[in-house]
Amino acid sequence: MQLYESPAYDPAWPDSHWAATSPAPPPCPPLTGAARSEVAVIGAGYAGLSAARALAQAGVGVTVLEAVQPGWGASGRNGGFCCMGGSKLDDAALVRRFGPEAARRFHRFQQEAVSHVATLLQEEEIDADRGPDGEMLLAHRPAAWAALQRQARERAQLHGERLVLLSPAELAARGIAGAGFHGGLFNPVGFPLHPLKYLRGLARAAQRAGATICGDSPVSSLRPSGGGWQLTTPQGSLQAGRVLIATNGYGADDLPPWLAARRLPVLSAVFTTRPLSEAERAAQGWTSETMSFDSRALLHYFRLLPDGRFLFGMRGGTSARPAALAALHAEARRHFAALFPAWADVAVERHWSGLACLTGSLAPFAGPVPGAPGLFAALGWHGNGVSTASLAGARIAQEILGQTPDLPGIMRHPPRRFPLPFLRRPLLALGYRVLALKDGPLPRPGQAACHPAPGRG
Ligand SMILES: Cc1cc2nc3c(=O)[nH]c(=O)nc-3n(C[C@H](O)[C@H](O)[C@H](O)COP(=O)(O)OP(=O)(O)OC[C@H]3O[C@@H](n4cnc5c(N)ncnc54)[C@H](O)[C@@H]3O)c2cc1C
Repeated sequence: MQLYESPAYDPAWPDSHWAATSPAPPPCPPLTGAARSEVAVIGAGYAGLSAARALAQAGVGVTVLEAVQPGWGASGRNGGFCCMGGSKLDDAALVRRFGPEAARRFHRFQQEAVSHVATLLQEEEIDADRGPDGEMLLAHRPAAWAALQRQARERAQLHGERLVLLSPAELAARGIAGAGFHGGLFNPVGFPLHPLKYLRGLARAAQRAGATICGDSPVSSLRPSGGGWQLTTPQGSLQAGRVLIATNGYGADDLPPWLAARRLPVLSAVFTTRPLSEAERAAQGWTSETMSFDSRALLHYFRLLPDGRFLFGMRGGTSARPAALAALHAEARRHFAALFPAWADVAVERHWSGLACLTGSLAPFAGPVPGAPGLFAALGWHGNGVSTASLAGARIAQEILGQTPDLPGIMRHPPRRFPLPFLRRPLLALGYRVLALKDGPLPRPGQAACHPAPGRG
């Protein structure tokens, strides 16, 4: 059973900027006939491919089964923010639930995850259009600016982090100006990249290491067999000793049954404009390629691409019906016009959407599936999988190899089931309405960017 309507799972590639600007995909023919492999991985996104690369590098026979082709899921259609994140719980909640040391360990993992991708790009010589270091969080109203200042102090205390607070004038001096931004918090960790170039480079790297990747091979059943697992696809079957589930927001809700109701795939919509001229960028005051997002609960994320196009994305929508997706894109376009009034009439070249994944615990999971020897899962990156899924995939490979994985304790608790799972989407719709009210209105036309900074530090 899949949670959304069929267009969310349409095997055609989305009309994304990434698909239009990537080199050819690596050849990945389907699984045919009866095959065996030491390890099977279901899903060829960052998590599955990172695990496959690490396993193959360790000399283990590994076969990745992908429903469509590598990167067809969220990994090939995201915003390309390689940054810290992965949980919906903030520091205070993580400390309350797991204690300060566990929160610090998880924080270090997020930093390592960004470095992991940077190293991987270098080691595997993947040209993924890496952009400038750092990520800007923009306060969308005065109270949020005060909260960012508090956050900077708390993160310095808990993690010893040095984040930089910037007033609207300082933002503007860095070429970051939109309507209604009341200040920014700059984290030097992270960088933007071309997500599909990275993904395809990773797939090729896994193949070079010895992994087999089978495209057009959706797994329809997974059952214990002969001390291992039997996986069935339309044209073949695979017998594997160990299996990693790396399907995140895609695939059936109950494959395997243990997973049922433990995750909530959520829609995110993205569009890219036509290239903006230098004069147009100057007119808006946005000339920086720093990846940025705002402090709304229903956050907007945006960045100038190296070729002058502007990418804008936002969460929302709870239906994948064509009319609902069209409404979501129209809404994204309206929000963009409010935040970047000088570009209100700039043509959109491409728009697309995809599924990210929350879990019932609001924290990611990478570990063994309880009560199912040889079965592992790595998923639930809460819309932040470019770095997190990449490192978690590599680290879960350690556990599949029989080693103790270098994973933070926070990621080792199997996700809770959502209560009343059949109400997940209606309750999400309700939650979105509440969050939109809490986020408050969009900037009005003519509203200037700045309020004087209410004090720094
Ligand atoms: C529009 C959008 C924007 C985003 N922006 C960002 C961003 O800027 N930065 C960031 O860090 N994160 C972002 N994310 C989230 C990020 O893309 C994901 O967290 C990450 O790509 C998940 O990687 P994954 O490998 O776990 O899963 P996916 O990349 O989703 O891969 C799962 C794969 O499993 C396959 N699959 C499912 N079921 C089966 C089956 N039965 N048999 C075989 N194969 C199966 C699917 O076809 C799919 O290819 C965004 C997500 C979306 C949708």
